[in-house]
Amino acid sequence: MASIGFIGLGNMGGPMAANLVKAGHRVTGFDLVPATLTAAEAAGVVLAASPAEAATGAEIVITMLPSGKHVLSVYEAIVPAVEPGTLLIDSSTIDVESARKAHALAAAKGADALDAPVSGGVGGAVAGTLTFMVGGGTDAFARAEPILAAMGKKIVLCGEAGAGQAAKICNNMILGISMIAVSEAFVLAEKLGLSHQALFDVSSTSSGQCWSLTTYCPVPGPVPTSPANRDYQPGFAAALMLKDLTLSQEAAASAGATTPLGAAATQLYAAMVDAAQGGVDFSGIIHRLRAGAML
Ligand code: NAD
Repeated sequence: MASIGFIGLGNMGGPMAANLVKAGHRVTGFDLVPATLTAAEAAGVVLAASPAEAATGAEIVITMLPSGKHVLSVYEAIVPAVEPGTLLIDSSTIDVESARKAHALAAAKGADALDAPVSGGVGGAVAGTLTFMVGGGTDAFARAEPILAAMGKKIVLCGEAGAGQAAKICNNMILGISMIAVSEAFVLAEKLGLSHQALFDVSSTSSGQCWSLTTYCPVPGPVPTSPANRDYQPGFAAALMLKDLTLSQEAAASAGATTPLGAAATQLYAAMVDAAQGGVDFSGIIHRLRAGAML
């Protein structure tokens, strides 16, 4: 059993903290939103009055926050409060540069740090089946593994500081692009008089096979559990896809990588969000393609 500080008890952090409590850990949590605190307390989280209070005396501090600027401001507050040797794990999805700055802030205090963003969404957070993509040292990773195992089913060490965020950004750029590719194919099939089921039966067992087709199929019918069957309720909202694609484009610009399809996907999701559809599942991009949306 470990003593864990948990900062950011929102849609993801709330159920993740609850799973740590269920696994027998002592969890002290903080969030700015009162409703998240009420839910966390009901799940057995001890409430703190500030990020620094949640971190004080903790062996491990986990953050699950909206963006890099939130993570860095919380690290400015908690690093002075922790003892050298404390392990800081940031599971937010943030830019690689901020992740590396967070590692450096921790190192200056003699604390260990890991960037450990997740995939699996709110459903995975509740079920404790998240995938963690981890960047940092092997000793810190070995220490974190049993803790992360209470919240996830797959934990991958991707490399040094920032490598977890890099893996997350690259994976979600593939996802954003592939969902558009699959949606375009269904729209073309409709125009050609080919049924959704026929395209699915062929492509799901052919070279067009991918997760966006076989798990998250953007038309109702072929995959009964996909958001298309529940009027495109998320799932994974288009606004979150836009956030991750934007991070991919910032990373591509700073690293000098050429990502023309990533850039196009970012523009298409930005237009979807501008059209007040940011809360729709990202597979709802098919509606815009069907309506003739272009870049
Ligand atoms: P959320 O907005 O529900 O939760 C974030 C929480 O952080 C909020 O409750 C907010 O009040 C809190 N917060 C912000 N600043 C704070 C501060 N200074 N101190 C304490 N708390 C503060 O967001 P979420 O859906 O839980 O996502 C969290 C992170 O996980 C994001 O980086 C997101 O990109 C990533 N993520 C989300 C999903 C998903 O499906 N929701 C999936 C994978 C990754």
